[in-house]
Amino acid sequence: MKSTIYIKCPECRENGLLIERQGKYFCANCMYDYTQLNDDRSKLDEVLIENLQVKGFGPLFAIALYERVTLTPPLEARDYVFKLAEDNNNIEIMEPTSKLDLLKNPILLIFIVVFVIVIIGLALLSVYG
Ligand SMILES: [Zn+2]
Repeated sequence: MKSTIYIKCPECRENGLLIERQGKYFCANCMYDYTQLNDDRSKLDEVLIENLQVKGFGPLFAIALYERVTLTPPLEARDYVFKLAEDNNNIEIMEPTSKLDLLKNPILLIFIVVFVIVIIGLALLSVYG
């Protein structure tokens, strides 16, 4: 499966496209070999943390990188990266963009709609009741 993953590279410091060559993963900018991080997990954590702080898809890319470098199943990789975020100043990976995203939360939206309907209902009751 081809995928488009950008990782902030520890070598060239660019947000480089992650490319695969013969089962290894490289930075498209400088050909830094991410596969070597499998033998240097503390360095891998550093790279993951740095990418967790990248706005937007940073956390997703961090999970994808961990999954590929360590050959960990997706759910396990996700758990690991979430735990890592928690252990490092609670990096907010659920809200990568802004607080406005709260309005896109369907449960909250339903709550607001129900709340408005109740208010309108009460207003109508007080007028006609
Ligand atoms: Zn690079």
